[in-house]
Amino acid sequence: MSIQHHLSDDTLLRHAAGRLNAGLALVTAAHLHGCAHCRGRLAAFEAVGGALLEMEAPAAMAPSAFSNVLARLEERPAPAPILRAPRRAALNLPPEMTLPPVLAGCDIGRWLWLGRGVRYSRVRLPWAPDANVMLLRVAASRAVVSHAHAAQELTQILHGGYSDSTGQYGPGDIAEHDETVLHQPRADEEGCICLAALEGGLRLDGWMGRVQRRLGL
Ligand SMILES: [Zn+2]
Repeated sequence: MSIQHHLSDDTLLRHAAGRLNAGLALVTAAHLHGCAHCRGRLAAFEAVGGALLEMEAPAAMAPSAFSNVLARLEERPAPAPILRAPRRAALNLPPEMTLPPVLAGCDIGRWLWLGRGVRYSRVRLPWAPDANVMLLRVAASRAVVSHAHAAQELTQILHGGYSDSTGQYGPGDIAEHDETVLHQPRADEEGCICLAALEGGLRLDGWMGRVQRRLGL
């Protein structure tokens, strides 16, 4: 199945400028590894940015310049996979599923209960201990509690898929959400395993939200 949901221009530009936090950068890299389209766009941004920096006086670019660079760079091959596997607990993943190579060197914990049919596994980045990164596993047809975000969330779908008010997401897709989106993802019949990073916290609705606020989370 082809990728339907890509990184936004804003996220690609922030990634190119090194301005994403470590967690968001990791999930961005996971998407880039599997998406020639976004690798091409990133390379185009970097090329245009580099060219602008080299100009003493900014000159107008031909309208086709960006798309020409894009067309050439979309053909770039995927980066070579990293052979060192992440340290990880026994996650009992589906046999056909592989973890993104960008998780090499990370420490992946065991599955922990998050809600009915929903588990998470903390992903620790030795180079950024405070990064808020997790694997999420949602059982077939289960929904995650309705929530919004304090800032930005990036979710790369690794296996299966889900739907919410913003669309349907399958393997290789990335979902970007911020504080303007209140959503309740529901896994499809295969269930869903994804890699997610948060900038800021979650704002939960319903009873879990009330518990969260009482506990001051
Ligand atoms: Zn993409």
